[in-house]
Amino acid sequence: MKKVLMGNEAVAYSLFINGVNVAVGYPGTPSTEVIETLKNFHDDDFYVEWSTNEKVALEIAAGASLAGARTVATMKQVGLNVAADPLLSLSVVGVEGGLIVFVADDPGPHSSQTEQDTRNFARFCNLPVFDPSSPEEAFELIKPAFEISEKYKIPVLFRMTTRVCHSNQSIEFELKREKRKIKGFEKKPDWVILPALSYIKHMELEQKLQDMKKELSAYNRIEGRGKIGIVTGGVSYFYVKEAIKGFEDLFSILKITVAHPLDEGFILEFAKDKEMLIFIEELDPVLEEEVKLILFENGKFIPIYGKRNSYVQFAGELDVDKVRDIFYKVLSDKRFLKKNTFGDVLQIPKRQAQLCAGCPHRSSFLIVKYAAKGQDVIFTGDIGCYTLGFAKPISTTDTCLCMGASITMAQGFKIADGSKKVIAFIGDSTFFHSGITGLVNSYYNRHNITVCILDNLTTGMTGFQPHPGTGKKIYGEEGRKVSIESLVKGIGIEKILVIDPYSDFTENVDKVREFLNNDQLGVIVFRRECANLKSRESYFKINQNCLKCRVCLKVTGCPAIDEDENGNIFIDSALCNSCGLCKNFCRYSAIEKVMVK
Ligand code: SF4
Ligand code: SF4
Repeated sequence: MKKVLMGNEAVAYSLFINGVNVAVGYPGTPSTEVIETLKNFHDDDFYVEWSTNEKVALEIAAGASLAGARTVATMKQVGLNVAADPLLSLSVVGVEGGLIVFVADDPGPHSSQTEQDTRNFARFCNLPVFDPSSPEEAFELIKPAFEISEKYKIPVLFRMTTRVCHSNQSIEFELKREKRKIKGFEKKPDWVILPALSYIKHMELEQKLQDMKKELSAYNRIEGRGKIGIVTGGVSYFYVKEAIKGFEDLFSILKITVAHPLDEGFILEFAKDKEMLIFIEELDPVLEEEVKLILFENGKFIPIYGKRNSYVQFAGELDVDKVRDIFYKVLSDKRFLKKNTFGDVLQIPKRQAQLCAGCPHRSSFLIVKYAAKGQDVIFTGDIGCYTLGFAKPISTTDTCLCMGASITMAQGFKIADGSKKVIAFIGDSTFFHSGITGLVNSYYNRHNITVCILDNLTTGMTGFQPHPGTGKKIYGEEGRKVSIESLVKGIGIEKILVIDPYSDFTENVDKVREFLNNDQLGVIVFRRECANLKSRESYFKINQNCLKCRVCLKVTGCPAIDEDENGNIFIDSALCNSCGLCKNFCRYSAIEKVMVK
């Protein structure tokens, strides 16, 4: 069959065809669609779940692998930081059934707190890393990734970047699943990582890397015969191919598909007749450093152009124009290339990121903001839709670091700057991911902060995945529901308030103001389903009473409210999610509800 597949879908199809038995992950853009696609496959020997975080996911995958199952753990690049602890140990302990750690890097970054290069993790953990350039290549590389993992008994990293994850390609394949028998867990002393064994296994791991170099080198290739060598990999390979169109004879390309470990012989073969090497890669100078070291160790000195001498940017994404500019910069004195013959780049207007119309978090933030008015407050934020609490006019997020850090950073502020009130915001899924431990610490160490859990009953930002608080599993079937309130009470925290952010605004502000009055550790759960999950029964409109004071617009910042060129305020009925928040701020009864017929 021939099918147009997104990069992440291509990975999911290939995982399924190649007999993956267990697929686990935590949602995070740009990685989410791998599990989302895998869940559409039903098979008796295939299990899939959303786990509470990436460390949990990888440890489940590790257990299943030791029992002989083919497994994949999926995550985005920052998720790998959470899973780093088991990954580093697992690289030494080893695996049984093939184990792929799928990590989506986000150069740009488009939807992440950091830019990170997972190829560096591969070097750090002594693990091989596949770095496909296209959805089709990703599809093809899953099979060897499993085979390498099983042959050398180590996890294999499978790193893609946003453009490869989210671009589409027509792929021809047979949807026939490889049937594998899981042999079951066999007890061995190997699986218990004691220090003395760890030392021996570390040496074995180093040897494995040496042994697999030649085999992995088969996935790298040389194209062209030109004297100017380009070393590239991932999506940058296609930028290079496009940029050198018409000048192909000048160049030869070393296309690196397995970024670590590199085979010295293959690199030296490529470099032997080159006048210079240009390194085109996104994020860190991984290929540049590795190749430079190989050349140096072998007494070969060729002019090198890359990130280290500022020809290539260290941060952000590359594109064809940027790559052509790099070539022009390097070669302009030789007049090899004309600058940008592609014409003007299409300029897309910038849009400010903001909470959706009717998002319950907008109301929750404003309730707290009004309740805390007049007090000296630090608001700590976290990772999720609600990070947008920083945007004007809401402006109730002063910090955002990583998953769960709102609660722990709040404690740091309380220790260092105790005169201030500290209010932490965290989402429901993030609370289960890594907020709980921070809250336990807060109770144990008597850090008196207020924690607002914004519970929209889903993982909103990544596309509405379930989590323990929803009680639903990946297929919507019943799991066991974990009650946030019971969990908080179980820690020992007695001061708990549950609020519906859509209910009476003034009453809610009064309740929260009273709650904030004493400086005890307390938790407020703001609970209301994500606006995008509910079908709309009504919307709001502006009537003739409107005096164009703009208060509704200025206070809420709701994207459904706008003004025309004559200053008339209007609500876009297609966008309004009928939360009723704006109505609270109109003194002239100019905002009214309209029922959808
Ligand atoms: S009711 Fe008002 S604040 Fe709520 S979504 Fe509609 S326009 Fe926005
Ligand atoms: S707050 Fe009321 S009067 Fe003022 S602009 Fe909005 S709808 Fe009109």
